[in-house]
Amino acid sequence: MTNNYKINKNHAYTSHNLRYFVGNWKMFGDFNSFKIVRKIENFHLKFRKKHKKCKIILCVPNILISFFKKKIKSKSVFLGAQNCSRYTEQGPFTGSVSASMLKKAGAEFVILGHSENRKEGESPQLIKKKIYSALRKNLTVIFCIGETAKEKKQGKTIKVLFNQIKKSLDKKFNLKKIIIAYEPVWSIGTGKTPSSKDLIKINAAIKFMFIKIFKINPPKVLYGGSVNDKNIFFFSKQTPFFDGFLIGGASQSSKKFIDIMRKYYT
Ligand code: PEP
Repeated sequence: MTNNYKINKNHAYTSHNLRYFVGNWKMFGDFNSFKIVRKIENFHLKFRKKHKKCKIILCVPNILISFFKKKIKSKSVFLGAQNCSRYTEQGPFTGSVSASMLKKAGAEFVILGHSENRKEGESPQLIKKKIYSALRKNLTVIFCIGETAKEKKQGKTIKVLFNQIKKSLDKKFNLKKIIIAYEPVWSIGTGKTPSSKDLIKINAAIKFMFIKIFKINPPKVLYGGSVNDKNIFFFSKQTPFFDGFLIGGASQSSKKFIDIMRKYYT
């Protein structure tokens, strides 16, 4: 099936124009970093008429979630976490934070399957348990998938994505609460980005996989990997079928993050 998909407008293109701008702060930030959130929020409040179909999600370190939650005023700025335990309830799991705890702290989203965590040993089976746990607590999962440079070179991209989806999702899950973030591993933090031809093909293939494997409408698909204020123009004009972006390094600066949103809409 992996070579047998067609770019079909019905699933390659989004039917609405809601766009997600998701920041992945990684291991960055402290209580003073709320000033970054405030600037992003003010930008959005000021431009909300123009950008009312834009959703901002900031995935910050766990210790900042409840502090930020109390201070955020905008209804379009949401908080997310960057990982969670596979265990939903409390128990003897030293150092772990459950989906339930994240939810109570104010997170509505959680990034799972990020390549930086896969690199630390997270298997597709473990990611599946984490996704299940997050969905049980009604968190929306931003599920990261992506191929390595070697896999790309070997022409295995679609196969890798297919396996990542198949091994960590289940048709019994509430798949409406899954957002896919296509993040080629070779692109994260490197300044390299895929060609528009590859992005068109991969976007359509991911959506097709959902139709084929789970027999449901395709999910929202974000792109992540070295998105910045210089290349966002390329993404907005040449690949308008992505539902938004997962932004790492550039989300740690309010100026860069705001410039990305501003330039996306110009
Ligand atoms: C990420 O870590 O999810 C990411 C996309 O990073 P960057 O934007 O820095 O490449």
